[in-house]
Amino acid sequence: MKHNKLLSLCALLLCALLCLTACAAEQSAPEATEAPAAPAATETPAATEGSEEEMAGMVPGDYYGVADGRGGAIVVKVTVGSNTIDAIEVVSQNETYNTGSEPLRILPGQIVAYQTLDVDLVSGATISSAALLTAVKDAIAQAGGDASLFTGSVPPEEAPADCEADVVVIGAGGAGMTAAIHAAYAGKNVILLEKLDIAGGTSNYSIEGFGAVGDKTHNGLGSDVTAEALAENLTNGNPNGSAAAFTVLASNNGSVADWLRSIGAPLTVAAGQTSVATSREVGELGVTIVSALKAECEKTGVDLRLANRATELVMTDGAVSGVKVSTDAGNYTISAKAVVIATGSFGANNDMVAENYPALKGYGHSCTVGGTGDGQLMVQAVGAELKNLDYIRVNFTYTTAENGYYYYMGSLFNTGAIFVNDQGQRFVNDQGAYGVGLKVVDQGGTGWAVFDNSIVEAVADVRRYKELGLFVQADSIGELADLTGIDRANLTKTVEDYKGYVSNGVDEEFGRAMLNMTFDEVPFYACKMTCRVQGTFGGISTDETTQVLTADGSAIPGLYAAGECANEGTWGANPAAVNIVFGRIAGQNAAAYAGE
Ligand SMILES: Cc1cc2nc3c(=O)[nH]c(=O)nc-3n(C[C@H](O)[C@H](O)[C@H](O)COP(=O)(O)OP(=O)(O)OC[C@H]3O[C@@H](n4cnc5c(N)ncnc54)[C@H](O)[C@@H]3O)c2cc1C
Repeated sequence: MKHNKLLSLCALLLCALLCLTACAAEQSAPEATEAPAAPAATETPAATEGSEEEMAGMVPGDYYGVADGRGGAIVVKVTVGSNTIDAIEVVSQNETYNTGSEPLRILPGQIVAYQTLDVDLVSGATISSAALLTAVKDAIAQAGGDASLFTGSVPPEEAPADCEADVVVIGAGGAGMTAAIHAAYAGKNVILLEKLDIAGGTSNYSIEGFGAVGDKTHNGLGSDVTAEALAENLTNGNPNGSAAAFTVLASNNGSVADWLRSIGAPLTVAAGQTSVATSREVGELGVTIVSALKAECEKTGVDLRLANRATELVMTDGAVSGVKVSTDAGNYTISAKAVVIATGSFGANNDMVAENYPALKGYGHSCTVGGTGDGQLMVQAVGAELKNLDYIRVNFTYTTAENGYYYYMGSLFNTGAIFVNDQGQRFVNDQGAYGVGLKVVDQGGTGWAVFDNSIVEAVADVRRYKELGLFVQADSIGELADLTGIDRANLTKTVEDYKGYVSNGVDEEFGRAMLNMTFDEVPFYACKMTCRVQGTFGGISTDETTQVLTADGSAIPGLYAAGECANEGTWGANPAAVNIVFGRIAGQNAAAYAGE
């Protein structure tokens, strides 16, 4: 019993932390991956068109091309005839599963089938797409060929026709896929629209924390944290949030965790974190959940239409009656009985971000490139209210490499690094994550992670970042200051002060909880940090049933919204769980409405 109470206390403390920081437990980069299955070699294609002189003139055989992807080297084996690309196999890669892995699955077949390197980059994974093409060109060059001659065209898609559905869901991230699946469970005919060439959205980038209480695993472990206690804790920690929304979240997050497990997302429970389900031991949280949701969409017959962008809601007599859709092949309209908006954040639309929080003008983001606020603007156009759009979450733990790729470095701070400004002074709680992001923006938006070799030795992610050349390294703090341009005297004093806090066990300046790194192990390292917009948690006004509301509080018939685009009152707490809980409610209620 005592043990259970201790677990409960840990759980509540952890909930409070999650509530304040939403995902403070994140410990690795969003680009971390699992290897996808190698694509099957494709059939031998037709010969390249053109005269003999124009042909590629290659020495037939297998060649290994290499290029830098988002997660490191991509190696492809390209089998060529004298004038043909006969097969492409990706033999080594480390791209993000469900995103960067998609072009490696899709493009080789297109290149071989149409004998062209003029294929479209896969939207949402353009870096990995371009890298795949560069690797293939490298192999062709090794074969003595001229890659610029492979310019066949991919045949255009057929123009889509107008059609009907019981329920249309817009946005195939965590919230949208969950809504679509639950509407399909209710026997409805469901179309799920996704504007990018890949499904998953920002949901694929969730790293670790999934708030859950009352699920079978926690119950089996003897956790006695109740939904009521969690709801109270979330309400107390978020004075701007809604107690009713937190009650719905806390009462349902356990059953959705059980549901996710049942459809193939092996969520585990981290030691001592009895109210938080995490998939850490089996892969990143988002990748695990998105993979399971994609498979369940397929199993339940959800008609997932990639590269289909919803542009406008159709209204009849004040109720939603359809959606206009745009594709490369043309536009069409779906007549629908109910519509769920699940289009995620507007973090990738810097104009909209800056309009609502001017200090963020010009800032980069770490959301899906699809998160441009389309859903918010579509519902506003039909009279819905948008609320709290200035509630934008910024994280300071990103670094940008020389090639422009950015990396999430939360693991540095979660394992001990300190954060200083160019003057060499700490200026926020280094472990504050989102809670301090906007304070960092107020002071210029950048700073330096400073740490010793113990962190590099202890953390696999950090070792990988070192290999990617993201750190400045020196044998003394003074030399580190000189190499980075940080004020030498201040940095030396900051490190000495900090060592004192570690030995006393109290951070007298900022109240940091983890005081473990002693700055005793050379070499010392520094890494330049830049803030990025990680999410936008205001949005479409809804009630706890996910109905979309106008400014006078009345519901727009047939219209529902869930996930990061919706403002249901959870105030950014536990967003990965919010998406699944409210996505399920939206799908069930849209199906019930469609059935009337
Ligand atoms: C790096 C990172 C780490 C995170 N870690 C955690 C964590 O550990 N725990 C946690 O709880 N939360 C975490 N989050 C937050 C969480 O991942 C997001 O809040 C959540 O995934 C958003 O889900 P969603 O379904 O609302 O949106 P998304 O998953 O972004 O899905 C929205 C989809 O809608 C599509 N779309 C947009 N407009 C249109 C249109 N007009 N037509 C068709 N489709 C459209 C988009 O392309 C996208 O695919 C993290 C976020 C980031 C960036």
